[in-house]
Amino acid sequence: MTDNTPQISIVIPLYNEEESLRELADWIQKVMRENDFTYEIIFVDDGSTDKSWEVIGSLSSKSKEIKGIKFKRNYGKSAALQVGFTDASGKVVITMDADLQDSPDEIPALYKMITEDGYDLVSGWKKKRYDPLSKTIPTKLFNAATRKMSGIKLNDFNCGLKAYRGNVVHAIEVYGEMHRYIPVIAKEAGFGKIGERVVQHRERKYGVTKFGLNRFINGFLDLLSIFFVGKFGKKPMHFFGTLGVIAFFIGFVILIELSIEKIFFNVGGIAERPLFFLGMLATIIGTQLFVTGFLAELVSRNSATRNNYLIEEKISL
Ligand code: UDP
Ligand code: MG
Repeated sequence: MTDNTPQISIVIPLYNEEESLRELADWIQKVMRENDFTYEIIFVDDGSTDKSWEVIGSLSSKSKEIKGIKFKRNYGKSAALQVGFTDASGKVVITMDADLQDSPDEIPALYKMITEDGYDLVSGWKKKRYDPLSKTIPTKLFNAATRKMSGIKLNDFNCGLKAYRGNVVHAIEVYGEMHRYIPVIAKEAGFGKIGERVVQHRERKYGVTKFGLNRFINGFLDLLSIFFVGKFGKKPMHFFGTLGVIAFFIGFVILIELSIEKIFFNVGGIAERPLFFLGMLATIIGTQLFVTGFLAELVSRNSATRNNYLIEEKISL
């Protein structure tokens, strides 16, 4: 390993957080010094319209550990994390919010869980939260749903404070609003050792939250996509094709049966029976599902990542 690989990279996505940045940087640097860590802090400015970027510039000019990336516009927290991850070179990567709700004092313990206890990912758990009720109640439901669907036993999926083994962040891709599900994405990528640690949470000191109530609707839809893509993304025909064939078959049998009644037994009023409509509906929907599966299969066949596999080890002659 080269000497300039820091022990810790701290990735901080931020959007209009000018008041907090200086205090946050000072606090992190104090913790790093006290523990003798080699580190880098990567501020990812997600298109702030306030003075955040100027503050980052001035912090960085005074300390070589502080780096900054600024987006041209606001792309969202996931995008900011993804770009920070790409640049993070540390053995352990820590993410935290910029609003001083997460405490840098937690970093040494998180670091230890990765390096000594062998975790791939450790997520903070804001057991005692300082957020309004309108947020904490839906969050409980959201966590329960994610727990159930992913089988990952975390109490708090969306805590901004998390620690990762360096190779984890380079193996995963966070996009859209998928930052809420990084543990799920990591698990799907094969990093199964996921832990949790109770962390202090504090009230937002400056500024306002950047996410509205629509976070819950979008969050739920994202959960569905993650599961769907994880399970069937590489073989969509298995999902749509199966349903399509079943629906078509049921419809077909119904229509054949009705035809027999009509042709051989001369039964009248076939077109007024509910079964007639059910038969038509089922064959049409079945065909549509099948075609959807076929098109999805063509799309996934063309995906640039269709053959991205994560190789753990290799023995070469
Ligand atoms: N954030 C960001 N881009 C956005 C929205 C938020 O980088 O489009 C950052 C924000 O500046 C903060 C973190 O993501 O550092 C968490 O956001 P916030 O504190 O508003 O969320 P909450 O704590 O209310 O869940
Ligand atoms: Mg916050």
